[in-house]
Amino acid sequence: MKTVSYLETDTLGFYGDFGGAYVPELLRENVENLDRAFRSYCFTESFERDFTSLLNDYVGRPTPLYLAKRFSEKFGCPVYFKREDLCHTGAHKINNTIGQILLAKHMGKTDIVAETGAGQHGVATATVCALMGLNCIVYMGEKDIERQAPNVQRMKMLGAKVVPATSGSKTLKDATNEAIRHWINHTDAYYLIGSVVGPHPYPEMVAYFQSVISKEIGDQLIAKTGNRNPTKVIACVGGGSNAAGAFYHYYDQPEVELIAVEAAGLGIHSGKSAATSVLGSPGVLHGSFTLLMQDLGGQVIEPHSISAGLDYPGIGPLHAHTISTGRTKSFAVTDEEALEAALECSRLEGIIPALESAHALAVLHQIALTPNDCVIINLSGRGDKDMNTYQSEIQLQTDES
Ligand SMILES: *Cc1c(COP(=O)(O)O)cnc(C)c1O
Repeated sequence: MKTVSYLETDTLGFYGDFGGAYVPELLRENVENLDRAFRSYCFTESFERDFTSLLNDYVGRPTPLYLAKRFSEKFGCPVYFKREDLCHTGAHKINNTIGQILLAKHMGKTDIVAETGAGQHGVATATVCALMGLNCIVYMGEKDIERQAPNVQRMKMLGAKVVPATSGSKTLKDATNEAIRHWINHTDAYYLIGSVVGPHPYPEMVAYFQSVISKEIGDQLIAKTGNRNPTKVIACVGGGSNAAGAFYHYYDQPEVELIAVEAAGLGIHSGKSAATSVLGSPGVLHGSFTLLMQDLGGQVIEPHSISAGLDYPGIGPLHAHTISTGRTKSFAVTDEEALEAALECSRLEGIIPALESAHALAVLHQIALTPNDCVIINLSGRGDKDMNTYQSEIQLQTDES
């Protein structure tokens, strides 16, 4: 395969060796139509205007770039947090949801179908469907529906239909299968994917919608320091959409180190982990050729992470490509290290981060930093949704109050 720039796929939708559109014949026309619509609409002034105005007035962008003073003192160099936790609905996911629903509307679609694991993507999708007056159908594993009751209630309040996936392990991958089946049977529905995964053009499209993150980081950093480039940008990777957004405008700036943080779960080699870039091998997952955790027979290995957003057996093809070329470095953080970092951030900065984002924070303890460093951590989301886990997993002294 021809190697193209980090941000563009070649005509078949590959980043280097990874990507493509491995979809059933019945969906081929759908993904081709989507690709055409994306290219003809999402780079026009009219799209730009609508997208930007919703990001500003509805999501609350630009999100602040915050100099975390006590973190900076502790780690001996400036550490900035990009505050995606302050987005409406509590995470970066809504940036992508708004972009794709504008596109769906432009294509004349009235039904939006999505799958969700922990419910975060489902909530972001249901939110924007309510805003735009579109029907929203969210597939969710039966087990996840039980585990994530508050998000199920949110989706229902927002008017979405939540459909249980009852096959297999009754979790995310089964919900994905059901959503794809729905799409095959209703080719007039719009299938909204929540990360930089899935068949071409989804990874490229989602990265583009999230690229607002690094565009803002550059503008904000130059205003604060006179320099657009930090020395390091750090982000957690589930499928990789917040990382793709935070890295986007820095891929072609070789002096900026890009650090992707995966979930090591109970330990990379414990059998309970989601460290795909270490444990994975090339194969097809969710419609693209990428790195995934699979057994010798090609069956997907169930991942594990304490954080639902990182509990995914693959990574998007852009990350598979940039990690394999060395442009992006990957690290892995255990459940326990993430919990410690969440507490550290709460105590030092008064910010309770999402468990996913706590993985990005924890990597500060694994890398060498000098006073000349300038570090950006993409704080992908806030911790409200994780309070149950924090409550059961973090032992606070009883004499503290
Ligand atoms: C969903 C989620 C993630 C993981 O998804 P990516 O596509 O890898 O960004 C990370 N952080 C938060 C807060 C999330 O909700």
